[in-house]
Amino acid sequence: MIATAAAPGGAQDAGARRFDGGRFTVYAYPEDAPLARALLDAARARDTFPGLPRPTRRVEIAIAPDARRFREWIGPGVPEWGAAIAIPAEQRTVLQGRSAPSSAGDPLVVLRHELAHLALHDALPDAEIPRWLDEGYASFAAGETGRDDFLALQLALAARRGSSFAALDSGFLGGATRASATYALATRAVQELAALDRERGLALLFAYWREGGTLDAAVRRAYGVTLAGFEVRWAERMRRRYGALAVATDLGLAGVVLLLLVGPLWWARRRRDRRRLAALVAADAAADARAQADAIEALLAAVPPPSSGAPASPPPGPPPDADGPLHGRRPDA
Ligand SMILES: [Zn+2]
Repeated sequence: MIATAAAPGGAQDAGARRFDGGRFTVYAYPEDAPLARALLDAARARDTFPGLPRPTRRVEIAIAPDARRFREWIGPGVPEWGAAIAIPAEQRTVLQGRSAPSSAGDPLVVLRHELAHLALHDALPDAEIPRWLDEGYASFAAGETGRDDFLALQLALAARRGSSFAALDSGFLGGATRASATYALATRAVQELAALDRERGLALLFAYWREGGTLDAAVRRAYGVTLAGFEVRWAERMRRRYGALAVATDLGLAGVVLLLLVGPLWWARRRRDRRRLAALVAADAAADARAQADAIEALLAAVPPPSSGAPASPPPGPPPDADGPLHGRRPDA
């Protein structure tokens, strides 16, 4: 993210320590000292950005110890989900320390992203940099193109909101999901712009732009296409690449809607069927028992009467409870 201004002072308050290295100064609280050193080392180890001359201006990196101070230091103009911010006019960036939520991302990548913003604005002080290019470039420079599966899904969802650079510019200020899809699309746009010149990437574009004039003029000089022409091609490619996925996503959504509509009917029917099945099973069991009792009766009836001389006794009847629980039982469902 970038901001034109943020709350002044901020990190340089009493509790913060200062870490210097090269053109960088990191302000951090003691609990974030290891992070501060790691960030400082990473920034110094890789201090060039695609297509730009090596930056020389001093940069200040403030690490906020908690969410409250992070919000305080970045000011009210930044969306709630913003993980970090760059303030080009002051060549300063504010990050979250170790208390940051995991949604804030890998701090090394986040720092690289913010430093890319600062480097871009430092190299093009008079240019009017559109937001899609600013964010797309920072994400491109930070290598934030690796999360392809997630990215593709996000792209699919975003693709139907109209793929145009103007739509992207407003998308950064939407909710977190829309913004992350917008970042993904903007990153692709910058990636494709760089791919127009396999050898020099973005270098000529930035050099021409620095000389003055508009982005459109610089794109035309560097790549021999108009910005509008590039935009149409990019949108077409996004549609081709992610259109099928978007349809699949829609089908997925249709499935959910169908389930909500038909689900209760299906459930009622299933319950009815289950009740009917239970009744059948019970009736079966009763019929079985009846048949068994009848067989026993028939067997007993077939036994020859006792020989004469013996006291007569009535033929044994069915067991006393044969009629009760078996024949009399009704399926209870
Ligand atoms: Zn950014």
